Amino acid sequence: MKAITPLNIVQIIDIFIGKEIRMPSVTFVCYFCKASYPASLITIRCERCFSPLDVCYSGKSSSAKNVLTPISDSDALISLGEGNTPLISLDELGNLLGLKHLLAKIEFMNPTGSFKDRGTSILISIIKEQGVQEIVEDSSGNAGASIAAYASKAGIKANIFAPSNTPVGKTQQIRVYGAELHLINGTREDAAEEAIVYYRKNDLIYASHNLSPYFLEGTKSFGYEMVEQTSSAPPSHIVIPVGNGSLFIGLWKSLKELQRAGVISNLPKIQNHECENRYTAAILPGKSMERLSLWRDS
Ligand SMILES: [Zn+2]
Repeated sequence: MKAITPLNIVQIIDIFIGKEIRMPSVTFVCYFCKASYPASLITIRCERCFSPLDVCYSGKSSSAKNVLTPISDSDALISLGEGNTPLISLDELGNLLGLKHLLAKIEFMNPTGSFKDRGTSILISIIKEQGVQEIVEDSSGNAGASIAAYASKAGIKANIFAPSNTPVGKTQQIRVYGAELHLINGTREDAAEEAIVYYRKNDLIYASHNLSPYFLEGTKSFGYEMVEQTSSAPPSHIVIPVGNGSLFIGLWKSLKELQRAGVISNLPKIQNHECENRYTAAILPGKSMERLSLWRDS
């Protein structure tokens, strides 16, 4: 296979965001027991072991001219300009920590303020492509706002279930996009249970960012961009803040695809940290994580 240059990676991202999207043959495969299912909006976990499902592309592999995406028609891509976020150097903080290179990818510059927009773009595009007119989602804030915004763009009614203690800034954001907000007195888990009851009762599509394999496919763009922004020399360590872990999984999957395509040779070590407000995804070439742990505890 011909080696892929950084210029080719730019072409990959161009294809990913809709300039030349190809339609591969897609199936869902269980991460745990490897059971296979036809790709579907109503199949969101393994029927045998209830594990999450992965999007698999039979007979195709990632290359400069054929990016792996489940979207069949570029005209169906629902985008608000997500992705292509800056990768900046944190020189002063790096010096304080004794790190020669400390970089941060600024994901809050996505359209609704979080990386969720990457996954939402692909998920809502598939939903729109299949003619769905109303969806249900549960969220603690960011994902609900993201789904609400992209559903509005697509002309789809969104029902967002969130716990009643969701920050008012997020509830207002969800409402301003035109979604119907269902505030639930209870925990985040209670909101999810109510959403499931609602979509089953009303025979709607459950657009769960936590469970949808399509959402994870969208988060892969983070890794493609990072490799392009580092001229195909990705850092040796990447720290990812996680809640449910979708960005963590999407990054890993993108790097594996780029490795198989010959774009990168070595896989970075990826470390996750539970989300806290003061963190963003940090990339630390050639350094261990102990320093970051010290920073966190200080
Ligand atoms: Zn399974």
